[in-house]
Amino acid sequence: MINFVVYDIICAMYKLKKCTLSIVLLKRGGLIMNYPVTCVWEVTMACNMRCKHCGSSCSSALPGELSTAEAFKFIDMCKNINLKWINLSGGEPFVRPDLILLIKYLYANSIPINIISNGWLVSEDIAKELAGIKYLRVMISLDGPEEIHDFIRKPGSFARIKNSLEILNKYNILTGCITTLTKQNYKFLEEIRTFLAKMNVECWQVQLGLPMGNLSENKDWILEPKDLTGIIDYLYEKKGKDGVHIFPADCMGYYNAKIDGILSEAYGEKVGSWRGCNAGVSSFGLLHDGDIVGCTSIRDKKYVEGNIKNQTLREIWENPNSFTWRRNFKPQDLSGNCKKCEHASECLGGCFNTRFTMNNSFCSENKYCTYNLMMDKK
Ligand code: SF4
Ligand code: SF4
Repeated sequence: MINFVVYDIICAMYKLKKCTLSIVLLKRGGLIMNYPVTCVWEVTMACNMRCKHCGSSCSSALPGELSTAEAFKFIDMCKNINLKWINLSGGEPFVRPDLILLIKYLYANSIPINIISNGWLVSEDIAKELAGIKYLRVMISLDGPEEIHDFIRKPGSFARIKNSLEILNKYNILTGCITTLTKQNYKFLEEIRTFLAKMNVECWQVQLGLPMGNLSENKDWILEPKDLTGIIDYLYEKKGKDGVHIFPADCMGYYNAKIDGILSEAYGEKVGSWRGCNAGVSSFGLLHDGDIVGCTSIRDKKYVEGNIKNQTLREIWENPNSFTWRRNFKPQDLSGNCKKCEHASECLGGCFNTRFTMNNSFCSENKYCTYNLMMDKK
């Protein structure tokens, strides 16, 4: 293991549920380049569920999935670029037969891990393996009380999640849950939160369902921008209650004192306002086949920056032609209220994926912004 000091600081922050990590800066050609802090790695597109809102419409494994040797090589590249944190996602990560091997190799390389799972496949045998990994959290997707969750995902899946959380608790493995908000479930937040508290889940990420993948076939499920206000009020009122710390995702914002208050409670220290989308700036995504993207939600081929089967991660990251859609985006490129907004130069319209999925353009205004809603009222 190398870089123990940095590792210990990060791991201490991890334990305290903080993830505002300092960014390594490099002066290069007169430009300050951030190195990535974190990554979302879709280890497989295979999934044992067929959720009605799956953003990637996952089913079977797709051609070109990284072999174990290629996956190890990618982990070496992450170490080389000094990555601080990795999120293993899918598909369903636990359907990948070598997942435990990958986790052990990440741990051997001092990279803390979040596993994002549907919770169906967590077993005693898996938990025994995970219990030996010091800095790891299992984040399970939970979309409502039993009837609603099972309707969205799969009959019996709520009961499987409950069982999985009990197993993970038994082995003292850190847990969290992720709820994707749609019209199907946003009125049941209190039922979900109460369940999380009962199951000792301390970390609850809440994110908007956006019209991607299967949800683009169920557009009537998508929340209206006006629905956000009541949701944020609720989350603010309940922040930290019963030990459940709430993390509104990137797509919920911006310049909203209540959101800042919710995040400050969760991180245990004052968190400043939104400072723009991290894609290609301090984070990136790795798709199942080795393609590198800025954000795994923005996966159209034209936003693929390279492939780690034939280039190193460092080469892709340092290429001045990489991630230009994000790195070169200017506030003047925005439209509507975002163009007029006093926060535009820092905010750049909030989540790029929200604008892209809602309006098919990064340049459109972000209607899912409470500051934008307030501008409309003025
Ligand atoms: S109106 Fe647009 S630029 Fe202003 S805070 Fe909201 S998303 Fe950001
Ligand atoms: S596009 Fe949205 S979800 Fe993706 S990194 Fe940017 S803010 Fe986050």
